[in-house]
Amino acid sequence: MRVCTVCAHPRRAEVDAAILGRVAMRRIARDFGLSEAAVRRHRAHIGGRLAHQEEVTTARLLADLRDLQAKAQSLLERAETEGDLRGALAGVRETREVIVAAQKLVEAGDLARRIEELERIVAEREQVRA
Ligand SMILES: [Zn+2]
Repeated sequence: MRVCTVCAHPRRAEVDAAILGRVAMRRIARDFGLSEAAVRRHRAHIGGRLAHQEEVTTARLLADLRDLQAKAQSLLERAETEGDLRGALAGVRETREVIVAAQKLVEAGDLARRIEELERIVAEREQVRA
């Protein structure tokens, strides 16, 4: 089995990030001076690991976000009860930010699943060709 030129690439971390970010294969190849086939092969063998890493990170961040959201919510309720409008507004803003951040994470999770699905398809096609 031949050595993967992407695994040996000095900017491999950047290539992995681009793959995770769903940058077009052709563009990754061009930006890092690689062949498109090499980038595809690399994605096929590292993709699962990347997706798993992303999932673990997402789960941890979501747990942190839930804590934050609970805190923001209780601050908001207290400010409302005490008639502290400025505080209530700050609570609303914080809650909104937490929700927006959570939404982005969920989208990132979707992304990881889509990459996995793509990898499966690519791997199947490569098997057909081999
Ligand atoms: Zn590789």
